Amino acid sequence: MIPKSHPRYLSLKTRDNIVNGVKMGITSEHGLIAHGRGEAFDYLIGEKTRKFGLEAIDAAAFLLVSAKNPVISVNGNFAALCAKDIASLGKKIPAKIEVNIFHTSKKREVKIRDFLIKNGAKEVLMPSTGIVKYIDHNRRYCNPLGIGSADVVFVPLEDGDRCQALRKMGKEVITVDLNPLSRTSKSASVTIVDNVIRAMPLLIKAVERYRSFSKMELNARIRKYDNKKILSKSLNYISKRFS
Ligand code: ATP
Ligand code: MG
Repeated sequence: MIPKSHPRYLSLKTRDNIVNGVKMGITSEHGLIAHGRGEAFDYLIGEKTRKFGLEAIDAAAFLLVSAKNPVISVNGNFAALCAKDIASLGKKIPAKIEVNIFHTSKKREVKIRDFLIKNGAKEVLMPSTGIVKYIDHNRRYCNPLGIGSADVVFVPLEDGDRCQALRKMGKEVITVDLNPLSRTSKSASVTIVDNVIRAMPLLIKAVERYRSFSKMELNARIRKYDNKKILSKSLNYISKRFS
């Protein structure tokens, strides 16, 4: 047990959740390494949600509530860290939830689905006969009713190839990625540079706030958003903190 008084309590607790994810067969061992990279970038932004994160969270909420078929794509890290919030976000938007993992394993996909359902998700789609074009590995399978026909996909902690492929298919892609230099961050429509455990509760609140906005108002706000500017704001923030 980590004592709550420990100055790095939250960070250590989050590590525990990822390690438990591996033990439960939800998260891949490679997920531990991805998490470590995330931690390093979180250190650089002071482990707090910053203004560039909040602006991107708002833009993500605009896109999600105005989408025709929004889908939340869930991998092993995201499930281990945010299962309850994933279920709640799915209900609030409302959006479909689909399991999609990088290192394909049927067994792990089923475990992720069951874990999400245990944590309150009503229905969880699995990859099947849908195809994500432009990628040639076995990660190209998706659900035709989910990611296959989605106009907006929310894919936190995503790999660059897949993010680029989804964009090429004409979909709006929202990601959460602590590394503003990753290929995912650069190719997404909206990049939330923040820890997914902090971003999710804020995104749920933003969706509640903007759900009643008119389509016109939402579109106007989406048009104003500039993801390149958000990424450079995050990099400027990091460089200023250390100069
Ligand atoms: P890319 O494929 O986009 O170029 P990559 O190969 O460097 O990126 P991946 O392992 O594909 O990285 O994806 C993991 C990404 O998720 C990393 O950029 C990492 O910083 C980020 N990440 C890990 N844990 C978290 C977290 N808890 N919150 C937000 N981002 C995270
Ligand atoms: Mg990658």
